[in-house]
Amino acid sequence: MILHWFRRDLRLHDNTALAAACHDSGGRVVPVFILSHWRGQHRWTGPARQSVLCGTLCALSEALEKCGSRLILRRGDAVAELERLLTETGAEALYYNCSPDPAGRALETRVHAMARKLGVRVQGFHDVTALAPDAVLTQGGEPFRVFTPFSRAWLKKAAPGPDVRPLRLAPAPAKLQSLPLPTLADWGLDPAHLLLPDSGEPAALRRMDAFFSGPAFRYAAERDLPAVHATSRLSADLRFGALSPRLLVQRCHAAIASAQSAAQRDGPRKFLSELIWREFYMAILWHWPEVLEHEFQPRFRGMRWQQPGQAFQRWQEGTTGFPIIDAGMRQLAATGWMHNRVRMIVAMFLTKDLHLDWRLGEAFFMQHLADGEIASNNGGWQWSAGTGADAAPYFRIQNPWTQSARFDPEGDYIKQWVPELRNTPARALMQPPASGKGVAPGYPAPLLDHARERETALALYQRVFT
Ligand SMILES: Cc1cc2nc3c(=O)[nH]c(=O)nc-3n(C[C@H](O)[C@H](O)[C@H](O)COP(=O)(O)OP(=O)(O)OC[C@H]3O[C@@H](n4cnc5c(N)ncnc54)[C@H](O)[C@@H]3O)c2cc1C
Repeated sequence: MILHWFRRDLRLHDNTALAAACHDSGGRVVPVFILSHWRGQHRWTGPARQSVLCGTLCALSEALEKCGSRLILRRGDAVAELERLLTETGAEALYYNCSPDPAGRALETRVHAMARKLGVRVQGFHDVTALAPDAVLTQGGEPFRVFTPFSRAWLKKAAPGPDVRPLRLAPAPAKLQSLPLPTLADWGLDPAHLLLPDSGEPAALRRMDAFFSGPAFRYAAERDLPAVHATSRLSADLRFGALSPRLLVQRCHAAIASAQSAAQRDGPRKFLSELIWREFYMAILWHWPEVLEHEFQPRFRGMRWQQPGQAFQRWQEGTTGFPIIDAGMRQLAATGWMHNRVRMIVAMFLTKDLHLDWRLGEAFFMQHLADGEIASNNGGWQWSAGTGADAAPYFRIQNPWTQSARFDPEGDYIKQWVPELRNTPARALMQPPASGKGVAPGYPAPLLDHARERETALALYQRVFT
């Protein structure tokens, strides 16, 4: 018998460790998930992500029952709970898929030590990305620091296809006790205000099919327009492993092959490139876990950021008086998701207009995003701050007004999320008001003058060179 420890791989299809456990034990697998003791405030998570976790676990439990098995849920320290389960079941081995982040890796070290003590075989598998985070290296065997050569090298390596062997699972031992499935109330959280899509493996597979049935072929042209539902919305599914990254890559290649024109082909090609950004940031975190504390580029360490005050609060609430910023922050609060283009605009605003430390924004995003992913979030924030691997140069400072004109020219996105501006002409949303008032009655005046703050940001960044 083998214990499969589910972590961020909450699916049955193409699950590397689970498939290996089934194969090696002839289906005698005990599927286990250990809930953490976390309740309430947490620096790296919040209600949206916990809600996806609850939904994904519920779907996993149903899927296991359909296969004649049962999810064993426990709560507490993962090492202590796994030790207890190994003793209760007498399992000969423990399989799991590896975590890319330092906390997960530290936990794995403790699990291995515990299993050694018990004399139980333990095996970690790579599963979180299509290619292992340490698989793509320069010719000199070094990790890449820049995306384009990483992407080229990534594409040259044939990513393994998904494992399509059917899973055969024997029933878990009847005497094993399991906790009831968690709900948000268990964490003292109220989900009522969040508009989240269905979560779990079947919903993720449906979302993927819907995307490849049309939007994937328009993705290159429309992905930057936040008012259009043009992206896949698969990020939370990937975060919890409700969807296999290998399957997604395979679907990209199939869509590229089936496209009817060069323009159509650009869609899945661009989409694949975004998936490779995800792989790139996982590789960065794998090789340089210190990015969670420090700037990737050492020259920017020790920057003199301003202290967060009322301006930070207005950024969080979406009341800065900059329509595109406020729309993004309110979309995040309402849905646990924000369009990628707008994530970049609000992140640059925090660092380059408010001169606040990117780590404040990084933590706020982790607390509010349903797809909060340590590697991509850190990568996105350090990209926007100009401090990361292959980041936007520090002197590239996006202007929120011109960004709105370019990517939301009719103001449709802004009007969807900022009801006070529904009757304001689009033109007024794309330029600072002349009067020092808000762009519409009842809407706050802009918190700051972008042109002036741009100069301040340049001076702040340049100070690190002197
Ligand atoms: C400041 C900032 C913070 C971010 N934080 C996160 C985060 O916590 N979690 C997260 O998954 N993504 C994050 N991103 C990346 C990106 O915004 C989201 O992946 C994307 O918006 C998710 O929507 P989607 O699934 O519809 O994306 P699609 O456009 O459909 O892309 C498909 C998939 O590719 C991956 N992807 C797309 N763009 C990126 C990117 N720039 N970097 C890494 N992977 C990418 C994601 O897994 C995404 O689901 C962040 C970006 C920025 C600028």
